[in-house]
Amino acid sequence: MFDWLIVGAGFAGSVLAERLASQRGDKVLVIDKRSHIAGNAYDRHDAAGILMHQYGPHIFHTNSQAVFDHLSAFTEWRPYEHRVLAHVDGQLLPIPINRTTINSLYGKSFTTEAETEAFLQTLAEPVDEIRTSEDVVVSRVGRELYERFFRGYTRKQWGVDPSELDKSVTARVPTRVNDDDRYFGDRYQFMPAAGYTRMFERMLDHPRITVMLSTNFADVRKHIPHRRLIFTGPVDEYYDFRYGRLPYRSLRFEHVTLDKPWHQPVGVVNYPQTEDYTRVTEYKHLTGQEHPKTSLTYERSAAEGEPYYPVPRPENALLYKRYEALADAERDVWFVGRLATYRYYNMDQVVGQALSTFRRIEEALPVPPAG
Ligand code: FAD
Ligand code: UDP
Repeated sequence: MFDWLIVGAGFAGSVLAERLASQRGDKVLVIDKRSHIAGNAYDRHDAAGILMHQYGPHIFHTNSQAVFDHLSAFTEWRPYEHRVLAHVDGQLLPIPINRTTINSLYGKSFTTEAETEAFLQTLAEPVDEIRTSEDVVVSRVGRELYERFFRGYTRKQWGVDPSELDKSVTARVPTRVNDDDRYFGDRYQFMPAAGYTRMFERMLDHPRITVMLSTNFADVRKHIPHRRLIFTGPVDEYYDFRYGRLPYRSLRFEHVTLDKPWHQPVGVVNYPQTEDYTRVTEYKHLTGQEHPKTSLTYERSAAEGEPYYPVPRPENALLYKRYEALADAERDVWFVGRLATYRYYNMDQVVGQALSTFRRIEEALPVPPAG
């Protein structure tokens, strides 16, 4: 009899497995339908020996010292500040849009934040209420930059126009009036020094944790005796799509290795105007690995397939609320993570959510004092 059956060996499931086993002495079984741990953060060495990310680029960044400290027990870190260039009008320009982007595109030579801000304000279009992903960008940088950097990329990535997506989607990408060209502004920006999978191995390496891979919950739920359940897969799937399917956006990854040391100047190049892929990742920039060859991933998005992104739109939030009500009414089942709580969360947010779930579990189920 397991105290806990945990469905999913990604951040949500693995962080909780470790806490339950090490802090409460609970006996935990973690299953995953995939043949590996680490969920979407899974990385591996490819045929050439280059460390790559099976499910697209994963860069760890957070402002939470608690989250950073927690993971630091399971990995050493490599400092890495992510930089992204967008292929726009035949040039490679910094995204987030910053002073360099503006100077290059408009033939300006602004050197101060004030000049750049004043110029952006001449481009910005007033929007009464910022509701959509189009509103966010147009109200800040105007329609021309929106069309060049955001509209095409978003249509490729989400299969809908930015005007049909919540503001939260494009609001992930700031606009800067200085020349800071980092993709993220967070206090902690690192890559796990030996990779994500190694970090997960260390997290799950506990005598009270058993891991079973290539195992689908639907096939085993009746056969594995367990007291309580943590589910980190899609919440609508858990309830057999009772209220209909929650839309998730899927991706296709094309991994290639080139017989030359470098392909592009930064870790990720975005393609908002041309190509059928959204972005190209070159892993050696992220990992610091030295190798005579280089490995890349081309990302194309798709409506069908493995669920990767919840789609932030008002009607989807309403449908999720109905599933959330079912989830909240459960006594012995906890729903955690990006798919189970239908939130467009980064890794650090999922770790934070898992740690706060652990605190709620401790309140609900205090461990009896020993003896
Ligand atoms: P997952 O990692 O999806 O884990 C859920 C696991 O549950 C999966 O392994 C799945 O196989 C398993 N599962 C589901 N259903 C079942 C079932 N029925 N039976 C058995 N197993 C099941 N975040 C960042 O912070 N920085 C980034 O740079 C970043 N880049 C990203 C790039 C891409 C392309 C994607 C898709 C996401 C990115 N993220 C990034 C987000 C990050 O992947 C997630 O926040 C994190 O992996 C979510 O962890 P999770 O445990 O909730 O879900
Ligand atoms: N986006 C865009 N152009 C870009 C980068 C981002 O239009 O060059 C929009 C797009 O809608 C994307 C969203 O901003 O889905 C969030 O970007 P982010 O890089 O955070 O996406 P993720 O890494 O989560 O796929």
